[in-house]
Amino acid sequence: MAKHSSYRSTERTRKGAVTKFGSRTDVGSVREQNEDSLVVRPPLFVVADGMGGHAAGEVASEIAVSTIEELAPDFADAEALGHAVEEANRDIINAALSGEGREGMGTTVTAAVLERNHLVIAQVGDSRAYLLHNGELTQLTRDHSLMANMIEAGQITPEEARFHPSRSVITRALGNDPDTVPDLYEINVEDGDRLLLCSDGLYSMLEDDEIAAVMRRVSDPQKCATTLVNGAIAAGGHDNVTVIVADAEGTAHQKRKRMAIRTKITIGFVLLLLAGIIAAAIWGGSTYLHNTAYLAETESGMVAVYRGVPGDVLGFTYSELVEETDIPVKKLSPSAAERISENMRVSSVDEALELVDSYRAELEAQQAKEKAEADAKAARSAAAAEEDEAYEEDEEPAE
Ligand code: MG
Repeated sequence: MAKHSSYRSTERTRKGAVTKFGSRTDVGSVREQNEDSLVVRPPLFVVADGMGGHAAGEVASEIAVSTIEELAPDFADAEALGHAVEEANRDIINAALSGEGREGMGTTVTAAVLERNHLVIAQVGDSRAYLLHNGELTQLTRDHSLMANMIEAGQITPEEARFHPSRSVITRALGNDPDTVPDLYEINVEDGDRLLLCSDGLYSMLEDDEIAAVMRRVSDPQKCATTLVNGAIAAGGHDNVTVIVADAEGTAHQKRKRMAIRTKITIGFVLLLLAGIIAAAIWGGSTYLHNTAYLAETESGMVAVYRGVPGDVLGFTYSELVEETDIPVKKLSPSAAERISENMRVSSVDEALELVDSYRAELEAQQAKEKAEADAKAARSAAAAEEDEAYEEDEEPAE
């Protein structure tokens, strides 16, 4: 039988939906004991405000929340929740009869199951449930109290009720009558709606407008619950004050989250694909630049082989000298010389080197031919000279 006075934030419900919530309970500035109890176990939320004095109220409220926590449905079934509250009533009566707590001890209880967009409430006494919808705060439950009766009868205003000497008199509670039944509520809520459960220690200290302002302003449910309790204490803290704030996040929210996840996956896939294309382009470009080659004329007029491409690409130079040959460009055929002087592109360094070999062979053949022609010419010149000499001898007169 745990007294829940902890701070909680987010928890996954048994149905899979995620509900954000916060809670806070405080003894206040006047009372010596905190007789309020609460349960925060999504989708179940319960506030109970015990009464009876000498710690008996605390016993009653703890029995109430413990029994309801044990018996409450995991889904939004108002009747089943009501049965849990009725069972809690019998447990309190039986506890008092068996000497636990005190006879006559009792408690209020406001129990809610918030399952996605469905909210059910079982309520006895003057602890309240409110709903903030589109910025408007509405009291969902009707107090079982003298003040509520007098307000409905037009005898006093809600403002007058807050300061009325009989403001704490309640007309229905758990622990008195074994046949007590709770009021049941079934409400459809929307994503973004905010549920507030509280004991009278909150709304007796703060007006509904003040509560609504905090509910609108403080988006985090836990901070909202803390701010509300601190506000009640700052306003006097005459009573124990307990607050639970839970945000409705139903099927539409789940769909939006799934859509968001799908969108993220799609964006991630496209980014991955782009990264792959860019990597492939870089790899392909790098491979191409590494393999491609060209022949060009050096400043001294020789044929040279380069790896890469002439000039620059996007401001970068991808060119590396592989070999400067001893082949003068001007010795090559006019067409080859012209192409080399304009940086002749070839598909690979090997192809460039093969071309160089062919140029060299061609040049050697040319040189051999020129030498042969020169030799032949020299031979012809020598022969002609010999003939001329023989002719001169034949022409010489006898003495
Ligand atoms: Mg109270």
